[in-house]
Amino acid sequence: MNGTRAVVLGAGIIGAACARELALAGAAVTVVDRGGPAAATTSHGEGNVLVSDKGPGPELALAQLSRELWPTVLTQVAERSAEGHRAAQAAEWDPKGGIVVATTSAGAHALARFADSQRSAGVRAEPLAPEALREAEPYVTREHTAAVHYGEDAQVQPAGAATALLTDALAAGAALRGGEEVCSGVVRGGRLTGVRTTHGLLEADLFVNAAGPWSGALAARLGAPVGVEPRRGDVLVTTPQPPTVFHKVYDADYVGSVGSGEEESQTSAVVESTRAGSLLIGSSRRRVGFDDRLRPEVLSAVAAKALRLFPSLARVPVMRAYGGFRPYVADHLPVIGADPRLPGLWHASGHEGAGIGLSVGTGRLLLHLVRGEPPPVDAAAFRVDRPAVLRPRQYQQQETT
Ligand SMILES: Cc1cc2nc3c(=O)[nH]c(=O)nc-3n(C[C@H](O)[C@H](O)[C@H](O)COP(=O)(O)OP(=O)(O)OC[C@H]3O[C@@H](n4cnc5c(N)ncnc54)[C@H](O)[C@@H]3O)c2cc1C
Repeated sequence: MNGTRAVVLGAGIIGAACARELALAGAAVTVVDRGGPAAATTSHGEGNVLVSDKGPGPELALAQLSRELWPTVLTQVAERSAEGHRAAQAAEWDPKGGIVVATTSAGAHALARFADSQRSAGVRAEPLAPEALREAEPYVTREHTAAVHYGEDAQVQPAGAATALLTDALAAGAALRGGEEVCSGVVRGGRLTGVRTTHGLLEADLFVNAAGPWSGALAARLGAPVGVEPRRGDVLVTTPQPPTVFHKVYDADYVGSVGSGEEESQTSAVVESTRAGSLLIGSSRRRVGFDDRLRPEVLSAVAAKALRLFPSLARVPVMRAYGGFRPYVADHLPVIGADPRLPGLWHASGHEGAGIGLSVGTGRLLLHLVRGEPPPVDAAAFRVDRPAVLRPRQYQQQETT
């Protein structure tokens, strides 16, 4: 790709992963963001790297590719330089594994069926007998009806992980321009050849729309709207605790909540410890545009579900709550590939609640597609010209700055 000029629009974890792959392949990469690295959704979520919540299909294949890449990528970042070493450490890679717990008999049956289907797609999903669950998670509810251990699930610190990927992209020659907003596109001969920013004109051979939940609004500014919208999520953070939760633990109805597109609030319990000792308790899913107000009733519902999984958390103080906007596509699949309406424009977006985990696989997939090489996973399901992506919307109305 030597000589190819690429501009990545967005310095979240997806933009960072794409910039890294393109820069390491020899492209002259510029990353432009109206804020700074990892300033938006990437620093407003959790850091789960999951295969456990995905059924057989294209998203699971991308998750499996990403899970395979994560440790290798972070090792490469660490080996590049002293700065890379520090950055990779800050990613806090932790292959702790996940445990999914059902608390009803219907939930137990659904979990068993789901795990069966995942095993057929190569996921390690091992049923846990009650004693084994108690040994793995001593504080989990005794009222469970089934549990499955997913040894491949892992965790990163999201802003740290994005910074590590971006550090590596910069080490490979990429340039970062923060505080610069992309306002419009320049089209010549039917091709996107430039973007106008608050700082001037940026010309390139290809542009990657990695603007997360603002990808729909940004694509509309460039003349090729895509159906990516915000889906709000809220998380509770406890004061630092002695070791209480040892895996990423969530309740079996989480998968149903992820797959639902309902506008009204969905909550499910996702509990994990962090290296600093705080527990992260998530999460909710609401389609409320870019309304960033915390809602006590949503936080209460999240807390109540977490207590069903870990009754002992009732005595643990919550020190803060935060939220962010997942980049949502109506069919729950990311958008990765060339825009057939506007040559020169590529999209890498719409990862909803899985963009941290899926980032490194997305960057690798995008690189293969840009080079016209056979992709490492089938990319057909992520293509831009599918109904969920191309339906018309007034994205500008939803945009906030
Ligand atoms: C509560 C919650 C929990 C989550 N938990 C997990 C989890 O456990 N695991 C997981 O994998 N994922 C999780 N996610 C999802 C994950 O955070 C996202 O999928 C991911 O961060 C999306 O990254 P991104 O780079 O696409 O978007 P962003 O991080 O939002 O980056 C987009 C960037 O584009 C920039 N931008 C936008 N418009 C413009 C413009 N016009 N000009 C210039 N720059 C622009 C923004 O400033 C921003 O920096 C969670 C999300 C939430 C909200």
